[in-house]
Amino acid sequence: MPQTGPACELTLEGFIASAPLGMCVLDAQGRFAQVSPALLQSLGYRPEQLLGQAFSRLLSHGMRAALVRRHRQLIEEGAALRGECVLRDGQGHARAMLIEACRLDDGADAPRVLAVLIDIGARKARERELLERNRVLARMAAADSLTGLYNRRRTLEVLQRLLRAANRYQRPLVVAMIDLDDFKTVNDRHGHAVGDEVLVTFARLLKALSRDSDCAGRIGGEEFLLVLPESDCDGASRLLDRLREACQSLRFSAPGLRINFSAGLYSRQPDDAISTLLRHADQALYAAKRQGRARHCIWPTD
Ligand code: GH3
Ligand code: MG
Ligand code: MG
Repeated sequence: MPQTGPACELTLEGFIASAPLGMCVLDAQGRFAQVSPALLQSLGYRPEQLLGQAFSRLLSHGMRAALVRRHRQLIEEGAALRGECVLRDGQGHARAMLIEACRLDDGADAPRVLAVLIDIGARKARERELLERNRVLARMAAADSLTGLYNRRRTLEVLQRLLRAANRYQRPLVVAMIDLDDFKTVNDRHGHAVGDEVLVTFARLLKALSRDSDCAGRIGGEEFLLVLPESDCDGASRLLDRLREACQSLRFSAPGLRINFSAGLYSRQPDDAISTLLRHADQALYAAKRQGRARHCIWPTD
């Protein structure tokens, strides 16, 4: 004979009263008919502050109309609801909650809604923190740690993008490969820290003199690449002249130290590949070095 124990009938009301879950029952008008102790505790309300009150009063004004609409849909059509909302807690603070609700067809005079609410504030905070960390990491991965300019990888990525657009729309684009002159001597005479100071100062100048739409990157020790969309070699030459003039008035912590640079310019030809741009700018740079430094050459240099 199967043994029968004492009848154990778990009512919904009993379950809500004892379950360690944020739950509530809303009547057909969206008013709290029952609230679980766990939800009261989590939101910091006393029962009399919520019972009989409209659930929508816990929402910001902007979210109320949408919630009232969803509640009506739930009551009329039984379409279950799942989403995130922000509720005002007993202290007036905004609390991010996940809400899942369904219609209760349990023979009551009017249909009601059963809702489960889970506090997702901590998860949201972790998500925000992760997003911010990812943004910082992406910035760090794209930047040269000494000068803050784009690093080699990022510079070449940007060049690739700008070149693709220039090739497609047949627009001018110039690259300038720039190399500081006799930089080894700066390090040897004044020390590595002064060398770093020179690189940082020069990078700042490069950024200050180029346009926002240009791209300035440090692609090697004392080697920089400028990408100038919508520019020809004349325009780029004028920019390098201004850069040279500004370089001459730079002063450093080492008294008497002056710096200069050589550069190679190349203007895009139809359907050039990135390797062609870099090779020709490099060849023009080495022509400038051969011709005595402190100057720039334009490819072809004959
Ligand atoms: P040239 O006029 O032919 O370009 O001569 P150079 O001395 O500038 O060129 P070289 O390639 O002989 O020397 C480059 C020097 O740059 C050597 C290297 O120690 C130095 N360097 C590279 N990266 C850094 C850096 O991050 N900081 C400092 N302080 N020096 C660096
Ligand atoms: Mg050099
Ligand atoms: Mg070099």
